[in-house]
Amino acid sequence: MVEALRNPRLHGFGTTIFSEMSALAQKTNAVNLGQGFPDTDGPAELAEVAANAVLNGPNQYPPLPGQPGLRAAVAEHQERFYGLTYDPDTEVLITAGATEAIAGSMFALCDHGDEVVTFEPSYDSYSASIAMAGAIKKPVLLDAPSYPLDINAFRAAVTDKTRVILLNTPHNPTGKVFTRDELSQIAEVAIEHDLVVVSDDVYQHMVFDGEHIPIAALPGMRERTISIGSAGKTFSFTGWKVGWVTAPAELRNAVMTAKQFLTFVNAAPLQPAVEVGLRLGDEYFDGLRDDLLAKRDRLSEGLQAAGFDVLHTQGTYFLTCDIRGVAQRNNLPDTSIEFCLALPEAAGVVAVPSEVFYTTKEAGRHLVRFAFCKKDEVLDEAIRRLAVLA
Ligand code: PMP
Ligand code: GLN
Repeated sequence: MVEALRNPRLHGFGTTIFSEMSALAQKTNAVNLGQGFPDTDGPAELAEVAANAVLNGPNQYPPLPGQPGLRAAVAEHQERFYGLTYDPDTEVLITAGATEAIAGSMFALCDHGDEVVTFEPSYDSYSASIAMAGAIKKPVLLDAPSYPLDINAFRAAVTDKTRVILLNTPHNPTGKVFTRDELSQIAEVAIEHDLVVVSDDVYQHMVFDGEHIPIAALPGMRERTISIGSAGKTFSFTGWKVGWVTAPAELRNAVMTAKQFLTFVNAAPLQPAVEVGLRLGDEYFDGLRDDLLAKRDRLSEGLQAAGFDVLHTQGTYFLTCDIRGVAQRNNLPDTSIEFCLALPEAAGVVAVPSEVFYTTKEAGRHLVRFAFCKKDEVLDEAIRRLAVLA
């Protein structure tokens, strides 16, 4: 038998926790608050544009950087929300989801042995993309329950091998929104060491406390920042896998060089729909946030009533709980993986063990993530079931 997964850089990655937990939910008939995807599709208006495009085109390869109309809409969006100006022809790239933008950035920016400083817990594709690029991840811990930036730890993680800072705000899985002050401290280090910042802003329209500040908008940062957005998140069409990059031409072109050999292009008939989405009125973007805020509070109250120690979420559609109390009172394991494996039988609900987002496993060992981007009745059913733990 040949050694299938021979590439040592992929050893240990296995199947993503999201697929694993969704399969568990299906097998056990549990309410799935694990994998982060909305159970209601995005605006019908966008779906109609996409359906029409499937019937009437465009259905052939779009231009490598993406359709001109969508690129223009991405540039308008950056200007409208953040006052950032990008040239749609040279500074915008459409990708196969934010995932490809992240991987393409790592492949383009890193040589073997280069270091990428990122925060942990971190979204699972970061470690894999860094590893596949042959680079080395240098995680800086955001410590629960409030996840402040430890600037000394951050400075200590930056060495003469550091090439990239990989930032995510609002942050999955913690729900942290980096403050202007924290971003300024990160920017100062990036400028001092002449680093590129790859900023994963996919949850930019889901901020409940404060505001989303793209690090590209800070003084001296536009020239060294690759910002990443996602139609999956912003328009609740996660299966479309349309993402975008805005960056100065040289950085955009670098990511495009890698991207052209990953997927070349993607989603021709969906691109005109995302273009329409990006130009929707403020009521759409405000509505998305307000809806999710109400859901956050609904689930948060339900989890508290069930005896969970719920940590505060400032943005994204995720809530984190410290499970120690509820686990001990119910004679359940108090480590997150074992707890999440036991939860479907104990209460008929699936969550994601936050431990998998950490390299320093102890820091996430008692934390569990619940997604609240679900219909109210689904959240209520989960809350009803979890009440057995109270
Ligand atoms: N970054 C973060 C932080 C995410 O949570 C996700 C969610 N899947 C992605 C990137 C990937 O986005 P996409 O589905 O657009 O590839
Ligand atoms: N981003 C989503 C999450 O964090 C799911 C992504 C995925 O399934 N790959 O849950």
